[in-house]
Amino acid sequence: MATIKDIFAVIKGREEPDRYVILGNHRDAWTYGAVDPNSGTAALLNVARRLGIMLQSGWTPRRTIILCSWDAEEFGMIGSTEWVEENLGDLQSKAVAYLNVDCAVQGMGLFAGSTPQLDKLLIDVTRQVKDPDVEGKTVHDTWSTMNGGINIERLARTDSDFAPFLHHAGIPCVDLYYGKEFPGYHTALDSYIWMENHGDPLFLRHLAITEIWGLLALRLANDLVLPFDYHTYASQLQEHTNVLADRMNNSQSVSVIHGFINDLSSAATEVQKEAKVCSGYTYFIVFSLCIAPL
Ligand SMILES: [Zn+2]
Repeated sequence: MATIKDIFAVIKGREEPDRYVILGNHRDAWTYGAVDPNSGTAALLNVARRLGIMLQSGWTPRRTIILCSWDAEEFGMIGSTEWVEENLGDLQSKAVAYLNVDCAVQGMGLFAGSTPQLDKLLIDVTRQVKDPDVEGKTVHDTWSTMNGGINIERLARTDSDFAPFLHHAGIPCVDLYYGKEFPGYHTALDSYIWMENHGDPLFLRHLAITEIWGLLALRLANDLVLPFDYHTYASQLQEHTNVLADRMNNSQSVSVIHGFINDLSSAATEVQKEAKVCSGYTYFIVFSLCIAPL
Protein backbone atom coordinates (compact mmCIF):
# COMPACT_ATOMS: atom_id res chain seq x y z
CA MET A 1 0.00 0.00 0.00
CA ALA A 2 1.22 3.52 -0.74
CA THR A 3 -0.28 6.98 -0.40
CA ILE A 4 -0.44 9.01 -3.60
CA LYS A 5 -0.87 12.77 -3.84
CA ASP A 6 -2.43 14.81 -6.64
CA ILE A 7 -1.64 18.51 -6.42
CA PHE A 8 -3.93 21.29 -7.71
CA ALA A 9 -3.75 25.03 -8.24
CA VAL A 10 -7.02 26.84 -8.90
CA ILE A 11 -7.46 30.31 -10.44
CA LYS A 12 -11.09 31.21 -9.92
CA GLY A 13 -12.90 32.63 -12.95
CA ARG A 14 -14.33 36.14 -12.76
CA GLU A 15 -17.51 35.77 -14.87
CA GLU A 16 -18.04 32.01 -15.14
CA PRO A 17 -16.39 30.44 -12.06
CA ASP A 18 -18.34 27.20 -12.59
CA ARG A 19 -16.68 26.53 -15.98
CA TYR A 20 -13.35 24.75 -15.66
CA VAL A 21 -10.40 24.77 -18.06
CA ILE A 22 -8.14 22.00 -16.76
CA LEU A 23 -4.42 21.52 -17.51
CA GLY A 24 -2.69 18.36 -16.31
CA ASN A 25 0.62 16.49 -16.28
CA HIS A 26 1.83 13.59 -14.12
CA ARG A 27 4.68 13.78 -11.62
CA ASP A 28 5.73 10.15 -10.98
CA ALA A 29 8.44 8.55 -13.17
CA TRP A 30 9.79 5.02 -13.71
CA THR A 31 13.42 6.20 -13.63
CA TYR A 32 14.94 9.72 -13.83
CA GLY A 33 12.02 10.91 -15.95
CA ALA A 34 13.64 13.86 -17.71
CA VAL A 35 11.28 13.32 -20.65
CA ASP A 36 8.49 11.32 -19.00
CA PRO A 37 7.08 13.32 -17.25
CA ASN A 38 9.50 16.08 -16.17
CA SER A 39 9.64 17.86 -19.53
CA GLY A 40 5.86 18.23 -19.14
CA THR A 41 6.21 19.23 -15.48
CA ALA A 42 8.72 21.95 -16.43
CA ALA A 43 6.19 23.27 -18.96
CA LEU A 44 3.35 23.13 -16.39
CA LEU A 45 5.43 25.09 -13.86
CA ASN A 46 6.31 27.63 -16.54
CA VAL A 47 2.62 28.05 -17.45
CA ALA A 48 1.87 28.48 -13.72
CA ARG A 49 4.66 31.05 -13.35
CA ARG A 50 3.40 33.10 -16.30
CA LEU A 51 -0.21 32.98 -15.11
CA GLY A 52 1.09 34.10 -11.70
CA ILE A 53 2.74 37.17 -13.27
CA MET A 54 -0.51 37.98 -15.08
CA LEU A 55 -2.52 37.61 -11.85
CA GLN A 56 -0.14 39.97 -10.07
CA SER A 57 -0.72 42.54 -12.80
CA GLY A 58 -4.46 42.47 -12.04
CA TRP A 59 -5.67 40.05 -14.70
CA THR A 60 -8.22 37.34 -13.87
CA PRO A 61 -9.62 34.76 -16.28
CA ARG A 62 -13.26 34.75 -17.31
CA ARG A 63 -13.54 31.02 -16.46
CA THR A 64 -11.79 28.98 -13.77
CA ILE A 65 -8.37 27.50 -14.62
CA ILE A 66 -7.25 24.37 -12.73
CA LEU A 67 -3.62 23.16 -12.93
CA CYS A 68 -3.17 19.48 -11.93
CA SER A 69 -0.02 17.54 -11.08
CA TRP A 70 -1.05 13.85 -11.09
CA ASP A 71 0.53 11.10 -9.06
CA ALA A 72 0.66 7.36 -9.97
CA GLU A 73 0.14 7.80 -13.73
CA GLU A 74 2.60 5.01 -14.51
CA PHE A 75 0.49 2.54 -12.50
CA GLY A 76 -2.50 2.96 -14.81
CA MET A 77 -3.48 6.63 -14.58
CA ILE A 78 -4.51 6.10 -10.93
CA GLY A 79 -4.18 9.72 -9.70
CA SER A 80 -6.23 11.27 -12.51
CA THR A 81 -8.73 8.39 -12.75
CA GLU A 82 -9.55 8.49 -9.03
CA TRP A 83 -10.07 12.25 -9.19
CA VAL A 84 -12.27 12.06 -12.30
CA GLU A 85 -14.35 9.24 -10.77
CA GLU A 86 -14.74 11.17 -7.51
CA ASN A 87 -15.85 14.34 -9.31
CA LEU A 88 -17.59 12.81 -12.32
CA GLY A 89 -20.91 14.70 -12.09
CA ASP A 90 -19.21 18.02 -11.42
CA LEU A 91 -16.72 17.58 -14.27
CA GLN A 92 -19.33 16.42 -16.79
CA SER A 93 -21.43 19.53 -16.17
CA LYS A 94 -18.67 22.10 -15.66
CA ALA A 95 -15.43 21.12 -17.44
CA VAL A 96 -14.87 23.00 -20.69
CA ALA A 97 -11.77 21.03 -21.73
CA TYR A 98 -8.85 19.03 -20.37
CA LEU A 99 -5.41 19.88 -21.84
CA ASN A 100 -2.80 17.17 -21.22
CA VAL A 101 0.97 17.27 -21.58
CA ASP A 102 2.95 14.18 -20.55
CA CYS A 103 6.27 13.72 -22.42
CA ALA A 104 6.42 17.36 -23.52
CA VAL A 105 9.75 16.99 -25.35
CA GLN A 106 11.24 13.80 -26.74
CA GLY A 107 12.67 15.11 -30.02
CA MET A 108 11.76 17.32 -33.00
CA GLY A 109 8.42 18.35 -34.47
CA LEU A 110 4.99 19.00 -32.94
CA PHE A 111 2.63 16.03 -32.52
CA ALA A 112 -0.86 16.76 -31.25
CA GLY A 113 -4.08 14.93 -30.59
CA SER A 114 -7.50 16.39 -29.82
CA THR A 115 -11.21 15.84 -29.93
CA PRO A 116 -12.42 17.37 -33.21
CA GLN A 117 -14.13 20.52 -31.87
CA LEU A 118 -10.70 21.73 -30.70
CA ASP A 119 -8.79 21.20 -33.98
CA LYS A 120 -9.26 24.73 -35.26
CA LEU A 121 -8.26 26.38 -31.97
CA LEU A 122 -5.14 24.21 -31.78
CA ILE A 123 -4.13 25.16 -35.33
CA ASP A 124 -4.85 28.87 -34.68
CA VAL A 125 -2.70 28.93 -31.56
CA THR A 126 0.34 27.40 -33.33
CA ARG A 127 0.35 30.43 -35.67
CA GLN A 128 1.27 32.59 -32.66
CA VAL A 129 4.20 30.56 -31.35
CA LYS A 130 7.78 30.82 -32.66
CA ASP A 131 9.18 27.60 -34.07
CA PRO A 132 11.90 26.33 -31.71
CA ASP A 133 14.07 24.88 -34.50
CA VAL A 134 13.66 27.15 -37.54
CA GLU A 135 14.50 30.84 -37.24
CA GLY A 136 11.78 33.21 -38.46
CA LYS A 137 9.06 30.53 -38.71
CA THR A 138 6.06 29.74 -36.53
CA VAL A 139 5.21 26.29 -35.18
CA HIS A 140 2.32 26.31 -37.66
CA ASP A 141 4.72 26.89 -40.61
CA THR A 142 6.83 23.84 -39.82
CA TRP A 143 3.92 21.68 -38.62
CA SER A 144 2.07 22.18 -41.91
CA THR A 145 5.06 21.06 -43.99
CA MET A 146 5.98 18.08 -41.77
CA ASN A 147 4.96 14.61 -43.00
CA GLY A 148 2.79 16.05 -45.75
CA GLY A 149 0.70 18.38 -43.59
CA ILE A 150 -1.06 18.88 -40.28
CA ASN A 151 -2.32 15.57 -38.94
CA ILE A 152 -4.18 15.77 -35.61
CA GLU A 153 -4.50 12.43 -33.87
CA ARG A 154 -7.94 11.35 -32.59
CA LEU A 155 -6.89 10.19 -29.06
CA ALA A 156 -8.22 6.63 -29.08
CA ARG A 157 -5.13 5.87 -26.95
CA THR A 158 -5.40 5.40 -23.18
CA ASP A 159 -1.73 5.90 -22.29
CA SER A 160 -1.87 9.20 -20.44
CA ASP A 161 -4.05 11.22 -18.07
CA PHE A 162 -6.47 12.47 -20.74
CA ALA A 163 -7.91 8.92 -20.79
CA PRO A 164 -10.31 9.22 -17.80
CA PHE A 165 -11.37 12.74 -18.87
CA LEU A 166 -12.13 11.69 -22.44
CA HIS A 167 -13.10 8.02 -22.20
CA HIS A 168 -14.94 8.08 -18.85
CA ALA A 169 -16.28 11.62 -18.61
CA GLY A 170 -16.59 12.61 -22.30
CA ILE A 171 -14.78 15.94 -21.87
CA PRO A 172 -13.10 17.63 -24.89
CA CYS A 173 -9.34 16.92 -24.69
CA VAL A 174 -5.99 17.91 -26.17
CA ASP A 175 -2.66 16.04 -25.85
CA LEU A 176 0.61 17.70 -26.95
CA TYR A 177 4.21 16.61 -27.40
CA TYR A 178 7.39 17.44 -29.31
CA GLY A 179 9.07 14.50 -31.04
CA LYS A 180 7.91 10.91 -31.34
CA GLU A 181 9.23 7.44 -30.57
CA PHE A 182 11.74 8.30 -27.85
CA PRO A 183 14.22 5.39 -27.73
CA GLY A 184 14.94 5.77 -24.00
CA TYR A 185 11.25 5.62 -23.00
CA HIS A 186 10.82 4.07 -19.50
CA THR A 187 14.54 3.23 -19.28
CA ALA A 188 17.45 4.67 -17.28
CA LEU A 189 18.39 6.66 -20.42
CA ASP A 190 15.44 8.98 -19.77
CA SER A 191 17.84 11.40 -18.06
CA TYR A 192 18.73 15.09 -17.98
CA ILE A 193 21.97 14.27 -19.84
CA TRP A 194 19.93 12.83 -22.73
CA MET A 195 17.71 15.92 -22.74
CA GLU A 196 20.68 18.33 -22.74
CA ASN A 197 22.59 16.45 -25.42
CA HIS A 198 19.81 15.18 -27.68
CA GLY A 199 16.22 15.98 -26.71
CA ASP A 200 16.31 19.77 -26.45
CA PRO A 201 19.83 21.24 -26.11
CA LEU A 202 18.58 24.86 -26.08
CA PHE A 203 15.32 24.05 -24.22
CA LEU A 204 13.41 25.99 -26.89
CA ARG A 205 11.05 23.08 -27.60
CA HIS A 206 10.06 23.20 -23.92
CA LEU A 207 9.22 26.88 -24.45
CA ALA A 208 7.16 26.17 -27.57
CA ILE A 209 5.04 23.55 -25.75
CA THR A 210 4.61 25.94 -22.79
CA GLU A 211 3.31 28.65 -25.10
CA ILE A 212 0.96 26.42 -27.10
CA TRP A 213 -0.42 24.91 -23.87
CA GLY A 214 -0.81 28.27 -22.13
CA LEU A 215 -2.40 30.02 -25.10
CA LEU A 216 -4.90 27.17 -25.57
CA ALA A 217 -5.85 27.54 -21.90
CA LEU A 218 -6.16 31.33 -22.18
CA ARG A 219 -8.41 31.17 -25.26
CA LEU A 220 -10.65 28.56 -23.57
CA ALA A 221 -10.71 30.49 -20.30
CA ASN A 222 -11.12 34.00 -21.72
CA ASP A 223 -12.95 33.99 -25.08
CA LEU A 224 -16.46 35.37 -24.69
CA VAL A 225 -17.84 32.45 -26.74
CA LEU A 226 -16.06 29.11 -26.30
CA PRO A 227 -13.74 28.57 -29.30
CA PHE A 228 -15.23 25.19 -30.30
CA ASP A 229 -15.83 24.30 -33.96
CA TYR A 230 -18.45 21.58 -34.39
CA HIS A 231 -18.15 21.58 -38.21
CA THR A 232 -14.90 19.65 -37.77
CA TYR A 233 -16.75 17.24 -35.46
CA ALA A 234 -19.44 16.67 -38.11
CA SER A 235 -16.78 16.03 -40.81
CA GLN A 236 -15.03 13.51 -38.55
CA LEU A 237 -18.32 11.69 -37.89
CA GLN A 238 -18.95 11.69 -41.64
CA GLU A 239 -15.56 10.09 -42.25
CA HIS A 240 -16.24 7.36 -39.64
CA THR A 241 -19.69 6.73 -41.14
CA ASN A 242 -18.16 6.26 -44.60
CA VAL A 243 -15.69 3.72 -43.15
CA LEU A 244 -18.59 1.92 -41.42
CA ALA A 245 -20.58 1.77 -44.67
CA ASP A 246 -17.51 0.38 -46.51
CA ARG A 247 -16.91 -2.28 -43.84
CA MET A 248 -20.52 -3.43 -44.23
CA ASN A 249 -20.07 -3.45 -48.03
CA ASN A 250 -22.97 -0.99 -48.13
CA SER A 251 -25.29 -3.85 -47.08
CA GLN A 252 -27.05 -1.62 -44.50
CA SER A 253 -28.20 1.94 -45.04
CA VAL A 254 -26.41 4.61 -43.03
CA SER A 255 -28.79 7.35 -44.16
CA VAL A 256 -30.19 7.81 -40.62
CA ILE A 257 -26.67 8.55 -39.35
CA HIS A 258 -26.10 10.94 -42.29
CA GLY A 259 -29.30 12.74 -41.28
CA PHE A 260 -28.08 13.27 -37.72
CA ILE A 261 -24.68 14.46 -38.94
CA ASN A 262 -26.37 17.00 -41.22
CA ASP A 263 -28.42 18.22 -38.23
CA LEU A 264 -25.20 18.67 -36.24
CA SER A 265 -23.62 20.57 -39.12
CA SER A 266 -26.62 22.93 -39.43
CA ALA A 267 -26.62 23.52 -35.67
CA ALA A 268 -22.87 24.32 -35.85
CA THR A 269 -23.57 26.90 -38.58
CA GLU A 270 -26.27 28.52 -36.42
CA VAL A 271 -23.96 28.64 -33.39
CA GLN A 272 -21.22 30.26 -35.46
CA LYS A 273 -23.64 32.89 -36.76
CA GLU A 274 -24.62 33.75 -33.20
CA ALA A 275 -21.10 33.74 -31.81
CA LYS A 276 -19.65 37.20 -31.66
CA VAL A 277 -16.07 37.55 -32.73
CA CYS A 278 -14.08 37.81 -29.55
CA SER A 279 -11.62 40.66 -29.36
CA GLY A 280 -9.04 41.30 -26.68
CA TYR A 281 -5.92 39.50 -27.78
CA THR A 282 -3.74 41.52 -25.42
CA TYR A 283 -3.40 38.66 -22.91
CA PHE A 284 -1.65 36.65 -25.66
CA ILE A 285 1.07 39.25 -25.84
CA VAL A 286 1.42 39.44 -22.06
CA PHE A 287 1.72 35.64 -21.80
CA SER A 288 4.33 35.47 -24.58
CA LEU A 289 6.35 38.27 -22.98
CA CYS A 290 6.66 36.37 -19.68
CA ILE A 291 9.74 34.57 -21.03
CA ALA A 292 11.62 32.06 -18.94
CA PRO A 293 14.42 33.33 -16.71
CA LEU A 294 17.91 32.51 -18.07
ZN1 LIG B 1 4.23 9.79 -18.79
